[in-house]
Amino acid sequence: MIVVGQSADSKFQPYKPCPCDSGKNFKFCCYPKAIEAKNSKSQKERYEEYSDGRINYEIHKLWEETDFKTCFGFDKEKCKKEIKSAHSIQNNRILNRISVDNHVYRFSNKATKRDIGVELKKVSKNKASTFFGFCDFHDTELFKPIELREYNEEPLQNFLFAFRALCLESHKKARELEVRKNIFRKRPELMIDRASVFQYQVSCLDIEDYAESRELFKQDYFNNDFSKIRTFYRKLDFEIEFATSSAFAIQHDIYGNEIQDIYSLKEDISTIYVNVYPVDGGTNILLSYRTDQDFKFEGYFKQLETLTDQKLMQHLNRLIIQYTENIFFSPNFIENLTERERESLTDTIQSSINLTKRLDLILDDNYFNFNLFNKST
Ligand SMILES: [Zn+2]
Ligand SMILES: [Zn+2]
Repeated sequence: MIVVGQSADSKFQPYKPCPCDSGKNFKFCCYPKAIEAKNSKSQKERYEEYSDGRINYEIHKLWEETDFKTCFGFDKEKCKKEIKSAHSIQNNRILNRISVDNHVYRFSNKATKRDIGVELKKVSKNKASTFFGFCDFHDTELFKPIELREYNEEPLQNFLFAFRALCLESHKKARELEVRKNIFRKRPELMIDRASVFQYQVSCLDIEDYAESRELFKQDYFNNDFSKIRTFYRKLDFEIEFATSSAFAIQHDIYGNEIQDIYSLKEDISTIYVNVYPVDGGTNILLSYRTDQDFKFEGYFKQLETLTDQKLMQHLNRLIIQYTENIFFSPNFIENLTERERESLTDTIQSSINLTKRLDLILDDNYFNFNLFNKST
């Protein structure tokens, strides 16, 4: 998530390592370059001359350049074969169910000079939701309990759904940090821009938080103890036409009370794991957290239990769009939306990082003007 905001101490310390990874201290590395670039008019003018197409291309290139292969499997000595692209959402069980002619829709960024927008793209289901986070062995072996068996509330299944969402998010956060570093290298003046520095600091903290969480999952795995994942489960009696798997930090409970300040650089930010997907004749809804975070999430999860299916769907409609872009849709769902609903979907997801967009949508009465849980037929 790109955070809109900044904090009072969003500055790089002169005698701390430079964010460009040179190993030198900031003051003697990029700081002079940042001052020079800030005062250079020609550079700023050069960026202003870029066309929207060029900017979109550059942003996508920045993202593509950061892809990397790793295995988040627990027992590294068992890693085998290459790192292949692993599905964050099961191909055979889930994507199959929502695809039409082997295609699904996903969100894609579309950058212009003004902002980074969002559009819907039709992609092959084999390429949808994949990331380079597991070797061949771990992708197959570790996840067998959710690949080969229907979900039946086993603690190990809850653990694996949560863990995979965490790994996907960890991979994405590592890439986001690389993007920020590459932007600093290209545009050193942003190293003294508070908003940019703040976002960089948030990225660093996110990565630390996610690494700590993965370590806890690892301990549980080796202790064969899967009781530390608390899961809220609800089954709907119809098949939805989207699927999502994600890990994110929520700010508010159902009634708008703050659970944690997700913009704080000082507080530890805790994550929940969300998997919502269709099965044969129904829909599984799984929300989880680690029980050491009871003090934050116990109340929220009790609230979830009290919701009717209808209210739960309303809540998830907001939650999912507000916090994740890792959602895949059936072409039937997307192609049956009205033009206005489709616009509401892409603009509302964009509005989670763009306050002006949110105001525009509210004024236009088109904010959250869609229902993910609607059936197209
Ligand atoms: Zn440097
Ligand atoms: Zn491995």
